[in-house]
Amino acid sequence: MDRHPLSLVALALVAASCARTGAPRGPAPLVPPSIDSMALRSHTFFLAHDLLEGRGTGRRGADVAALYLASEAERIGLQGAGPGGSFFQEVPIVEATVDSARTRLALTDAGNRQEFPYGTGFIPNVGTARTLVGFGGEVVYVGSAQDVLAAPSRLPPLAGRVVLLAGMFGAEAAAADTLRTRGATGVIHLVGDDERYQLYVRSRGPSRMFLDEAAAASSFIPDIPAVIASPSLERALLSGLPGAGEAAARLDRPVVLAGKRVDVAVGVSSRRPPARNVAAFLRGADPTLADEVVIYTAHYDHLGISTPDATGDSIYNGFSDDAAGAAMLLAIAQAMQRAPRPARSFLFLFLTGEERGLLGSDWYAAHPLFPPARTAAGINLDAGAPPAPSVHWRVAGGDRSTLGATALAVAARAGWEAQTAPASPNSDYFPLLRIGVPAVFLVPGPGPFDGMTAEASNALRRRWDAYHQPPDHWHADFPFSGLVRYADYAYRLGLEVAGGERPRMLAPR
Ligand SMILES: [Zn+2]
Repeated sequence: MDRHPLSLVALALVAASCARTGAPRGPAPLVPPSIDSMALRSHTFFLAHDLLEGRGTGRRGADVAALYLASEAERIGLQGAGPGGSFFQEVPIVEATVDSARTRLALTDAGNRQEFPYGTGFIPNVGTARTLVGFGGEVVYVGSAQDVLAAPSRLPPLAGRVVLLAGMFGAEAAAADTLRTRGATGVIHLVGDDERYQLYVRSRGPSRMFLDEAAAASSFIPDIPAVIASPSLERALLSGLPGAGEAAARLDRPVVLAGKRVDVAVGVSSRRPPARNVAAFLRGADPTLADEVVIYTAHYDHLGISTPDATGDSIYNGFSDDAAGAAMLLAIAQAMQRAPRPARSFLFLFLTGEERGLLGSDWYAAHPLFPPARTAAGINLDAGAPPAPSVHWRVAGGDRSTLGATALAVAARAGWEAQTAPASPNSDYFPLLRIGVPAVFLVPGPGPFDGMTAEASNALRRRWDAYHQPPDHWHADFPFSGLVRYADYAYRLGLEVAGGERPRMLAPR
């Protein structure tokens, strides 16, 4: 059970008995500080509203969201942690809009030339000024990124060739470096069925963004030119091969597709739209340890306005992704304000450009407002809005530092189950790990919700799941008890870390 509804019931009972006896109202009874579900409702109501147009990075809707977050931080009594005491940290980005007329792919197979247009045939993957360029060469299939890293000796010569990769790089970003250093000119990602391809088309949108500072390392954007193939391009590429199925083909070994050649042209036009992180500070109680921060992260950007769905809705409201996370940060800050203050300080960091490839968090990692030496931990919330309270958790990145064991212990004390999971550059905790800050990504699930069967839990998940689609709206009847529980876990972990032993990184296994 959540503490919050119980507390309200308790308060109501006290008030009722006072009214009956006519006793004068005494001081309010002490209620343990907890997560305010009405705050979660109202913050997400605003942030996921159509008027914010999906909070696209570099768009006015995102600016309004940033202003709202700063204004709420001001109301809660937090301090600006940006330059000059401002709540904003500017993030210089470049937006490269794909020019469809100049972006195309040609497949030559035994003298036959087939053209694939941008969009229906393929899309450029995320990229930078260095990688949003054309490439070409004979085609070679190498399996997945895991295969590349597991058995680099099995790779055929790659110099001057185009690599077909099963799936994306994901957590195996190092595979991109292997392919590049072996001379591959570019990568074609094979993602399988059309549903999956369309998810990439929607998520990438019509433009690509990257940091306007070549020296700032990227956690998510692979350093090699790459495109994502539609199922029709995938079939054409793999046709005639033994073991190649209709789609999502998985050959069992690397193979040079002799006689097949791909030439990709990529044309973009660039501009530099404004973007910013929002950073709010809450000072700890200890005169010395208050110089160290525990950082909470959530991204406030989403996909903006993009491909319309079947109903014609083109606004990607991002209620669960990640208006929910930004709202949880505000609710946690509000609860912290009412709780006895722990020794260390808190930084509530609302990041931009996550959907565009961790841009806000990569910028923060390159230009931290508190240096890693004074950053005790990072706690990231970006796993959607669970529609009921979770009793199972995954602690991604928890194996990289002692923060993982602390997160497991905090869950166990609350009667929940938690396990660590490997870190992946799929959300904003990853850049913090990259600069040596113990950081975790708390993820509800995958087990049944509190007091529910697995079947009922999964039905509820399906009822509310609209990942990266326009119907990811705010709904008046959405059950916010799941977000209260999610924020409560993060709140407990933050208090534990801010008041206890400082987490440290572990040597890689
Ligand atoms: Zn997200």
